[in-house]
Amino acid sequence: MAGITLTTPLADVPGVTRDRAEAFEALGLRNVGQLVAHLPHRHQKEHAETPIAELAENAVVSASGEVTAVRVAGFGRKKRFEAVLHDGSGRLDLVWFNMAYLAKRIGAGMTLRVQGKSQRRSGGLQIVNARWEIVEDEAPGDLVESDDRLRPIYPASERLDSRSIEEVVQRVLGPALAEIEDHLDADYRREHELPELAAAYRYMHAPESEHQPIEARRRLAYDELLMLQLAVHLKRAQRRRELVAPRLELTDDIDERIRGRLPFELTEAQDRVVRAIAADLAQDLPANRLVQGDVGSGKTVVALHAMLLAVAHGHQAAMMAPTALLAEQHAASIEDMLRGTSVRIALLTGANTPAERASLAARIEEGEVDLVIGTHALLTESVRFQSLAVAVIDEQHRFGVRQRAVIREKSSDPADDGRLPTPHTIVMTATPIPRTLAMTLFGDLDVSTIDALPPGRTPITTKFVGLEKRGDVYGWLRTKLEKGERAYVVVPTIDDTNEDASLREVMRDLESGPLEGLRIAAVHGRLKRDTRAHVMGRFRSGLIDCLVATTVIEVGVDVPEATVIVIESAERFGLAQLHQLRGRVGRGEKASVCVLIGEPTTEEGRARLEAMVASSSGFELAEKDLQIRGPGELFGSRQSGLPPLKVADLFRDRQLLEMARRDAAAWIDRSPELRGDTESLVRRRVLKLYGEAFGLADIG
Ligand code: ADP
Ligand code: MG
Repeated sequence: MAGITLTTPLADVPGVTRDRAEAFEALGLRNVGQLVAHLPHRHQKEHAETPIAELAENAVVSASGEVTAVRVAGFGRKKRFEAVLHDGSGRLDLVWFNMAYLAKRIGAGMTLRVQGKSQRRSGGLQIVNARWEIVEDEAPGDLVESDDRLRPIYPASERLDSRSIEEVVQRVLGPALAEIEDHLDADYRREHELPELAAAYRYMHAPESEHQPIEARRRLAYDELLMLQLAVHLKRAQRRRELVAPRLELTDDIDERIRGRLPFELTEAQDRVVRAIAADLAQDLPANRLVQGDVGSGKTVVALHAMLLAVAHGHQAAMMAPTALLAEQHAASIEDMLRGTSVRIALLTGANTPAERASLAARIEEGEVDLVIGTHALLTESVRFQSLAVAVIDEQHRFGVRQRAVIREKSSDPADDGRLPTPHTIVMTATPIPRTLAMTLFGDLDVSTIDALPPGRTPITTKFVGLEKRGDVYGWLRTKLEKGERAYVVVPTIDDTNEDASLREVMRDLESGPLEGLRIAAVHGRLKRDTRAHVMGRFRSGLIDCLVATTVIEVGVDVPEATVIVIESAERFGLAQLHQLRGRVGRGEKASVCVLIGEPTTEEGRARLEAMVASSSGFELAEKDLQIRGPGELFGSRQSGLPPLKVADLFRDRQLLEMARRDAAAWIDRSPELRGDTESLVRRRVLKLYGEAFGLADIG
């Protein structure tokens, strides 16, 4: 077909009516290039269809026919949508559970093609939750096709079904593919075992084997990730040119002095991360490193090591924690370790009075403080550092991307060469996926993992019980407490509400009931700092047996003697949160128990609690969480400001992502601005996609 190019409007393609062109436009497809980039989301093997009367039982079958009746039946969560399909030879019953909305899509009189597992029912054959497709303008008799063709199934709309899209694609594919230029050369493709770009599109739209779409998907997903990673690394190279950080070399002497202050030997896993950070900090380029490690893996001392390295070089360091409670605790334990040294420590939280804050800010700016530990309060404008060299952000999942940026801007005036002084940044998290994965992408972070727990930990036993067992749980807890163990009871809210166990209610209930006579106290976010510190101190030293708390204890609280945590209304908490809460116990040598009390009302809620019982690894749970919730809008969200990934799935394609990361890093190392003779195509494509979002326009 002469005259068709990638920029030909679809309205000008022979056979596309105006109405059709509008329907395409509603899908965001205006020209041939966009249509070719509109990829099928799956391929369906088309078996020659068998008449319904001859369908096999208990087999995956395809059939089509006319919908003769539909209804929604059942109640609430049991709600189902039913349809009856006839093809002249027999009757097939279709049932979809939890998809009552199908009533809006499927109606009597439509021709439907379905695929799924057939089951024998009293009345005849049935398919549950069949895949389905509406067949337009065709009689069922015409549907029998050649054997085993792979048919692309496109994201479609009500006005435009997959078949109609397919028809137009097939018409333009030949001339369109002839125009597609590859930005990767033949050697590169061979090395990476990737098909040519035009071939990948052909494999997607007109596959000749089952393997082709798989190969094509790999190429296109890799491309997307490579473009993104090239953008990330271009940005990094740009930062290298524009920013500067103090070189903090870790000498043996400094290392020994720091380690001598720690109350324990670092584990191998910690040691590895400490070294990785030290290598970063020895460069005059601001480090940007994520340290991930499960709850209790010992991230704090790893950060402290870096902070003390900054102090040893005469600079300042800051650590930001998401709650005042956690900041207070970090300050207390760091003060303990540094007692008798000349390191000057300050604690800055929202609990400081304005006068205290002003005087602290002045001391920080004068360089009279070496280590500052605080909350968001650190980010206020009045806080300026004399020479901030290391900024640590603890439990980063609790902070926004923006807040991380602010703390990095807390440095002083440009250096002589015009580069802007910026501290080395270390962010710590126990929640690796999915947010972290996303941040790794656009935050241009290096990642280290503390993949082992310190020695002497005993695994935590987790149980999930219904409300009817609540009495038994507290009866058992009483015997534990009477033996001198310590426990947390966690509730979702402070005040009485209709649905959830509240702090007040639970306190009342325990004090006058199962835990009567034992020493119980409450902590929550509304307590004054002194009161909270007092209560925590008493719990730590064993003067309180049981602490009833809201999620203020979620992160960081570290009392090794606590052995039991009971979580009320557990279905109200997210999986990551439950795991964090559970991490409050199992920190000492005694065996610990986590009891989840709850009545999940959704499948999801139940799945979360069951996952908690099944696994004690934060990494496993994070993956499970992603499975339960689905990958969602991780990426193309408006917040991220990035175009969505169309093919790649950050979760499923982690290995491709890793490969793209490495390749892009090496590529930009070789060619920091992508200005080589053969790079203009790739450069144009990267800038078009990410130039604006990453602020790369200036190298455009
Ligand atoms: P997280 O990674 O959850 O922030 P922490 O830094 O709070 O973990 O450490 C958890 C507990 O383990 C703390 O009591 C800490 O003192 C202890 N700890 C950390 N590293 C070691 C180690 N190498 N050996 C023994 N105990 C350690
Ligand atoms: Mg911590």
